[in-house]
Amino acid sequence: MCLFCPAPSVAPSSPWSARRAFLLAAGAAAATPVMAQVDVGSASSLRKLVPAETLEQSAAQQYRQMLEQARAKRALAPDNHPQLQRLHAIAKRLIPYATPWNDRARQWRWEVNLIGSSQINAFCMPGGKIAFYTGILDQLKLTDDETAMVMGHEMAHALREHARERIAKTQGTNLALRLGSQLLGLGDLGQAAAGLGGQLLTLQFSRSDESEADLVGLELAARAGYQPSAAVSLWQKMGNASGSKQGGLAFLSTHPSGPARIRELELNVPKVQGLYEAARRNG
Ligand SMILES: [Zn+2]
Repeated sequence: MCLFCPAPSVAPSSPWSARRAFLLAAGAAAATPVMAQVDVGSASSLRKLVPAETLEQSAAQQYRQMLEQARAKRALAPDNHPQLQRLHAIAKRLIPYATPWNDRARQWRWEVNLIGSSQINAFCMPGGKIAFYTGILDQLKLTDDETAMVMGHEMAHALREHARERIAKTQGTNLALRLGSQLLGLGDLGQAAAGLGGQLLTLQFSRSDESEADLVGLELAARAGYQPSAAVSLWQKMGNASGSKQGGLAFLSTHPSGPARIRELELNVPKVQGLYEAARRNG
């Protein structure tokens, strides 16, 4: 879960250079799309230790359970809910630009649901299972452009397989400890991934995952014809919400909105402005 978006309070001085150094060391492979305007480097090859299919199945199961629980509490928005229809319309515009970032997305069954909750939150689980809480739309009074930035950010976490990477790192460490010096087999991590549904809802991403999701999401939204500057106004609203103590303590204590995040987005807006203008011309 993104928890829009928790991250360790200590951020590396430069998430990009740290990530690159790590990737070079790991001999990473997965490429960014050749046409990408934002610079996020390659996805971590460590994620390949966890079978994507198993993780996606586990996520789908967890998503279903979460929807059932929301339905039981009468907190699941019906199909004709205007805010849900708005989310569906935005997703429809964003999804066509997803596959260049991850070929697996061709076979994903994307879903978008809206849950009645005052929490400021949204997430996209592995395999394209998206949920928004009414709190984020209502309390921040998000425009369509800003909502598209949130959705793009969450989709980017799934497309860049941040959950898979994080699980590979944490479970890999746990299993390695448990197994001592035995060589870690794929079967072990496959088994771990199968039982991870619950963990997907409490997973915390790193600051560099968050930066990556910001930039990939920005580009997805721009290609879909959403105003890039909305990424900046979104995070300004997030910052204001933190200041006015909206959204609950968990959000306040973990929310990484701040000048550095906004500055990075401001620097990247010009890179995707042309994509946005082309999309508006053609759309
Ligand atoms: Zn995030």
